[in-house]
Amino acid sequence: MIPYGRQRIDESDLEAVRSALLSEFVTQGPRVASFESALAKAVRVNHVIAVNSATSALHLACLALGVGEGDLVWTSAISFVASANAARYCGADIDFVDIELASSNIAVAALREKLNRCDQEGQKKPKVLIAVHMAGQSADMSEIFELSKEHGFKVIEDASHALGATYKGSPVGSCEYSEITVFSFHAVKMITTGEGGACVTNSPAIAAKLQQLRSHGITRDPAEMSETYPGGWYYEQQELGFNYRITDFQAALGESQLSRLENFVQKRNEVAQWYWKNLNGMGLDVPSVKSDRTSSFHLFVVLLPNSSSRKATFESMRAQGILVNVHYLPIYRHPYYSRMGKYNPADFPMAEEYYSRCLSIPIFPDITEEELNSVRSALTTKIGFQNLF
Ligand SMILES: *Cc1c(COP(=O)(O)O)cnc(C)c1O
Repeated sequence: MIPYGRQRIDESDLEAVRSALLSEFVTQGPRVASFESALAKAVRVNHVIAVNSATSALHLACLALGVGEGDLVWTSAISFVASANAARYCGADIDFVDIELASSNIAVAALREKLNRCDQEGQKKPKVLIAVHMAGQSADMSEIFELSKEHGFKVIEDASHALGATYKGSPVGSCEYSEITVFSFHAVKMITTGEGGACVTNSPAIAAKLQQLRSHGITRDPAEMSETYPGGWYYEQQELGFNYRITDFQAALGESQLSRLENFVQKRNEVAQWYWKNLNGMGLDVPSVKSDRTSSFHLFVVLLPNSSSRKATFESMRAQGILVNVHYLPIYRHPYYSRMGKYNPADFPMAEEYYSRCLSIPIFPDITEEELNSVRSALTTKIGFQNLF
């Protein structure tokens, strides 16, 4: 079996978790803060709030930007459902922006057109846009940032795929073009803590809000109390928060993994290079990376010649033990969203085409040349066969 992605855990990870588990702190201890500062340094941002998943991080990010009932949030038509669900948790409405086929990221032209249409028709514009960095390549953040200033919305980057990627010379997560960036440490992502995620931001006010919401809306800081501070036992719940905390031993794993991020990204890029070289001339569209950015290659998504070759290829590769995947069904096609009756697939022609042809083939740091060759021959046989018809 060759999975589409797989974590890489080594002895140093085991040792980090072991010493965390044998320490005094199993839930909240010094390793959470230590992981947070290591991540802050790695992505060149001022504040990191580590949480128990990227889904939680997206929820908190929306709340911290004031998203609530009656508000509108936009995100990419092609992403994992969590990118849209975050808005729904806050009671806000969600709408989608079409993608560009080549990068599978939000198409700036489609975004601009949709915003202008809102202006022309006097319709509500989004309070927040969640830009997704699909497969590990940053979306066009500087153009999105310009539009956010022009049309008055805020930006969250869903960088669940893109830890270790760069955009215009800066690490994804430095928040030059957004209020908050979110990372995932789920097992298939760039580094893992089992389950886990983080919000990062340069705003001290947003960071304080995120910190409070992560832990029940409670503060213990005497300076922040609304009542006179009676003594050391005292804390206040100032708003409705959650328990979205990550544990100390997960943070230990995260920091240990983070120290090898560069190597993980390097290996994934070598796999991408191999595919570029060896999948040439097969009638597939392979992913490209724009010249002002680097990808972390969470996924390697090829576009098959047509949708019928997709089904056949998927099934034949699966039957040969190559666990290819489809990332993703357009979010508006999930029953929870489609039954709202608000979304028309015809409004998202590129997302539709992408979905009908996309196939994620295996990419992870430890994949061997032999495994890559079997991916290639499974793909070649199938495509060659299909092309006869
Ligand atoms: C994985 C993923 C998430 C959710 O991450 P979790 O840590 O599993 O909650 C959100 N957005 C995107 C784009 C993802 O791929």
